[in-house]
Amino acid sequence: MADEFFDVVIVGAGLSGVGAGYHLQTEAPDRSYVILEARDALGGTWDLFRYPGIRSDSDMYTLGYNFKPWREAKAIADGLSILNYVRETACENGIDRHIRYGQKVVAAAWSSADAAWAVEVETNDGQTRRLGCNFLFLCGGYYDYAAGYTPEFAGRDRFQGTIVHPQRWPADLDYAGKRVVVIGSGATAVTLVPELARSAGGVTMLQRSPTYVVSRPAEDQFANWLRAHLPAKLAYQLVRWRNVLFGMYFFRLARKKPAAVKARIIQMVRDQLGPDYDVETHFTPRYNPWDQRLCLVPDADLFQAIKAGAASIVTDQIETFTETGIRLASGRELPAEVIVTATGLNLKVMNGIALSVDGRPVDPANVLSYKGMMYEGVPNLASAFGYTNASWTLKCDLTCEYVTRLLNRMRATGARQVTPVNADPTLGREPWLDFTSGYVQRAIGMFPKQGSKAPWKLRQNYALDLLNLRYAKVDDGVLRFSNPAAGRTSEGATVAA
Ligand SMILES: Cc1cc2nc3c(=O)[nH]c(=O)nc-3n(C[C@H](O)[C@H](O)[C@H](O)COP(=O)(O)OP(=O)(O)OC[C@H]3O[C@@H](n4cnc5c(N)ncnc54)[C@H](O)[C@@H]3O)c2cc1C
Repeated sequence: MADEFFDVVIVGAGLSGVGAGYHLQTEAPDRSYVILEARDALGGTWDLFRYPGIRSDSDMYTLGYNFKPWREAKAIADGLSILNYVRETACENGIDRHIRYGQKVVAAAWSSADAAWAVEVETNDGQTRRLGCNFLFLCGGYYDYAAGYTPEFAGRDRFQGTIVHPQRWPADLDYAGKRVVVIGSGATAVTLVPELARSAGGVTMLQRSPTYVVSRPAEDQFANWLRAHLPAKLAYQLVRWRNVLFGMYFFRLARKKPAAVKARIIQMVRDQLGPDYDVETHFTPRYNPWDQRLCLVPDADLFQAIKAGAASIVTDQIETFTETGIRLASGRELPAEVIVTATGLNLKVMNGIALSVDGRPVDPANVLSYKGMMYEGVPNLASAFGYTNASWTLKCDLTCEYVTRLLNRMRATGARQVTPVNADPTLGREPWLDFTSGYVQRAIGMFPKQGSKAPWKLRQNYALDLLNLRYAKVDDGVLRFSNPAAGRTSEGATVAA
């Protein structure tokens, strides 16, 4: 029996969970809710990652919430500013009062007889607690907080220096004057390299294969001008829409004319690094733009560090770590006192929660995702998952709005259970994401599938989702609304149908 009952349990107090709290209390204000957060702090990603230079790689006009203007001068913002923005949102709206820290949700069992989830929580002090809720909203992000991904490196134990993963950056790591090798070519590596290069005794970015790298001004002059001359909300919405539309245009162009976009991006790198730099080897990926996420560098900082001689890029394979650095397949040795393994994240499905429906375990790999947020045969559950080709929050805001519409629809019709049901035998099953990135490919088999047609098709398209999630009818014939015999309310009463 659950100790407490809420209309909605939100899992996670990161950017998505705090946003979910806001939308819920604003658009479905009669629902009780609690946010359960496994860690002792709010902010998720923006609190966890503490490596030097940590910043967004998309602009804050689209990574910010639709309801709270981003007011800082920098559009590509540092981690602490983003954390403060999330904290401020939670405090000024009283969302912080709904958060319970040190509460990791480990299991949730749906009972159709009760129209309720029994949620099992492990607390930081080793206790197990049980809560009940009518709707479970997973906002716990997409990766494992316990540890980042590090491949097996031969000879790792031989290395006499320090090895760090960016997900667990030691606050006291002193790299000043030291030779640092950063292994990786993704967003974290390109963020770290210019920042470390400011004081290290030389930084080498060691990559197996190159990534598309695009420079963009950290400050958006047009946005700052608008903010100075227009009301904050209006300026924010204008810049947000401009960025959304530009992002969509660029993504479409990359899909339609990959060769031209590829050539343009590489030419921009050439313009930065000059004709003598080996752009072919170090900045020309084997895949097309947007088959993986592009890396954004603010104010060309990576290129500046390379030009200044403080950083360099090596494209090669690791043969083994040695006592004093790394030996490469080419035979070359890279001396290092510090090795940073910017080798990525371990993805996690359904926030690591063991789900069951009426006693049957849910295998996430076997369910179809409905509108990219609910799951075939799983009642009263949604998850917040952002875009791969645009800012995370754009999709999360829409998901939260949709969940509140769904809850309001259920209240209006007296339905206590809603389940996506696929009745179309011709519907094909496709992988959840089509990204070729290693971290996606390592985990894609565990993820839910998407369908070949709407509403099971995952569209990475904000404009379409906006129409679909904000305006289209909730009752689309695919969602089955029902009213089990008896259910609990947050007031604790058992209600009959
Ligand atoms: C270094 C880095 C940079 C990024 N930069 C960008 C960017 O520029 N633009 C962009 O769009 N995206 C970016 N992302 C993706 C980023 O994670 C999202 O933008 C966004 O912060 C995700 O917010 P979230 O709240 O959904 O998840 P998270 O930030 O991961 O927060 C999830 C929270 O849920 C908690 N939690 C998880 N499981 C449970 C559980 N079972 N029980 C209780 N609590 C749980 C976690 O402890 C955490 O606090 C970046 C990611 C990383 C790692």
